[in-house]
Amino acid sequence: MKKKTKRRVFSLRNYFTVITLIIMVVTVFVANIGAYLLDWIFGFSMTMPIAVAIPILSIILGTGITAVTSKFFLAPITRLSQAMKEVADGKHEVKLTDEKNPVTEITDSYDSFNTMTGAITAAEEMQNEFISNVSHEFKTPINAIEGYAMLLQGDPQETKEQEEYIQKILLNTRRLSDLVGNILLLSKLESRDITSEKTRFRLDEQIRQAIVQMEPQWEPKNIEFDVEMESIYCMADEKLMQHVWLNLIGNAVKFAPQDGFIEIRLRKDEENIIFTIRDNGQGIPPGQEERIFERFYQADNSHKSEGNGLGLTLVKRAVEMSGGAVAAENVKEGGCKFTVTLPLPEENI
Ligand code: ADP
Repeated sequence: MKKKTKRRVFSLRNYFTVITLIIMVVTVFVANIGAYLLDWIFGFSMTMPIAVAIPILSIILGTGITAVTSKFFLAPITRLSQAMKEVADGKHEVKLTDEKNPVTEITDSYDSFNTMTGAITAAEEMQNEFISNVSHEFKTPINAIEGYAMLLQGDPQETKEQEEYIQKILLNTRRLSDLVGNILLLSKLESRDITSEKTRFRLDEQIRQAIVQMEPQWEPKNIEFDVEMESIYCMADEKLMQHVWLNLIGNAVKFAPQDGFIEIRLRKDEENIIFTIRDNGQGIPPGQEERIFERFYQADNSHKSEGNGLGLTLVKRAVEMSGGAVAAENVKEGGCKFTVTLPLPEENI
């Protein structure tokens, strides 16, 4: 049920009318007192015509009173504009309250703003639920196609052509299954449907395991790894962090050239754990360093078929859920570097 908001008597128009009246009364009062005091103290009687004195005094007093009172009106408008920026940045659950503010237009704007963010959040929840249901429905037929294609694979009577078709079916079902898996995980992360279970674990060990797990991808490309990692404990969701390393290493392998090179560093400073991964590929097209974290965004056409543009979105969400941040930049030597920063747990022995 919609909460009934108490109507206030004071609208902005009433306020400004009252302020103008106050300025006029104060001006006339100050002008008369001033003239009287000048006459009384110095015996100097004002000869300036009233038509000149009143406007000059009005300007001086009006500017002073407006400068002091405008803060009162502008502060809630500044808050509203900041909240709108937060909504534009994706923080849709922002709510504004100012029960004590007596100005109708401001409380009305806050109410409308809260109704808007409420509607956006509800629409987002519905969208995530829909995506999650559809993805679940896709999973079963994809698994069935993959299973039957695998059964056909071992048939000794198979022609070369048939073998090639089966390989293609398997490759595409795996791509589809990766896409559905990523969509499901992302919708869970975005609807905060996932309970982030933070545990303490050795981050360098996890990253090493991810490099080993990616061997089928980097081995045929003959990629050289240069890895230097301090032994560091981390307090985060272990499963989610595994997605982060697999995605970042997977991208570096994908974008590095044949016989390419990947540099991985893990270190800590007083407050943070800093992970960097650099490859010697073509880098990110200039100006796209932030856009690559958007859903389905792929900056590079030549590798489009090898991915779905969701990997980095997942990385960003997962890192942010652990209280960290991720950024990408091109490096002078060629290629690009991704930096993940995570909070350093207090005990790191
Ligand atoms: P994809 O599945 O396409 O790899 P991602 O979300 O992982 O999706 O990455 C989005 C886009 O960011 C990629 O399509 C690519 O254009 C760019 N990108 C990611 N990693 C790198 C990299 N190491 N070098 C160059 N471009 C990259």
